Amino acid sequence: MGVAALILCTARSLADAVPGGIHVVGIPGNVAWVSYEGRLVLMRAGHAFIGINIAAKPGRHQVQIHGDTSTTVDFEVQPKTYPEQRLTIANPKMVNPDPADLQRIEAEAARMEQVYLSFSEGPAPTRLDQPLNGRTSSPFGFRRVFNGEPRNPHSGLDLAAPTGTPIKAPAPGTVRLTGSFYFNGNSVFLDHGQGLISMVCHLSEIKVREGVQVQAGDLLGLVGATGRATGPHLHWSVSMNGNRVDPEIAMAVFSRAD
Ligand code: ZN
Repeated sequence: MGVAALILCTARSLADAVPGGIHVVGIPGNVAWVSYEGRLVLMRAGHAFIGINIAAKPGRHQVQIHGDTSTTVDFEVQPKTYPEQRLTIANPKMVNPDPADLQRIEAEAARMEQVYLSFSEGPAPTRLDQPLNGRTSSPFGFRRVFNGEPRNPHSGLDLAAPTGTPIKAPAPGTVRLTGSFYFNGNSVFLDHGQGLISMVCHLSEIKVREGVQVQAGDLLGLVGATGRATGPHLHWSVSMNGNRVDPEIAMAVFSRAD
């Protein structure tokens, strides 16, 4: 690799070290594991891929690299301001759930978090593909305001597509969790290995069972509008080391790191 290419790589990596982005660090061959905020991170082809929380504070962050000896490497998280998005939801219980629903929502959040925090051994995928071809109706990170009330930022990428459009696995993986969730509707969680998890939701139909292994491009389900959705679309979340990251950054980062 020439000097110009090296500079370009460094610049692009830095640009991705933002809240909701992915920081890529080159690691020597004798590294056994890499951790960030006490969690294992994905390693592939001489690099560690660190998912950065959308709520991360800009400034100095640290990665621990463990081999024969352990070292700490600093990196800088740059600020990133995501635009605000105002949406109107017809069902007020999807904005202010009643106490019984809140109990269900908390229980569901715990089940989902367990999947997001899991780390399975084995090779990480070499690329991630968009689960369907569709217009982006809402990018990752938008600060959401539902019926005038601020809520959590958008944790995935929304792709508009008609009800019944096939949703394909972005990469090989194991189906860890399926179900019908309060906000997300019919959902599939796919474990691609080493803490890289895809979640697709609002499905009209789920076409896979928990525990099965799928290949890239295999059918996961069909587009719908279940859960908190203003119309049929696919919501795709990508999680690394327990942090939801921008799927568009994830696709770009994985395709250029070979
Ligand atoms: Zn969404």
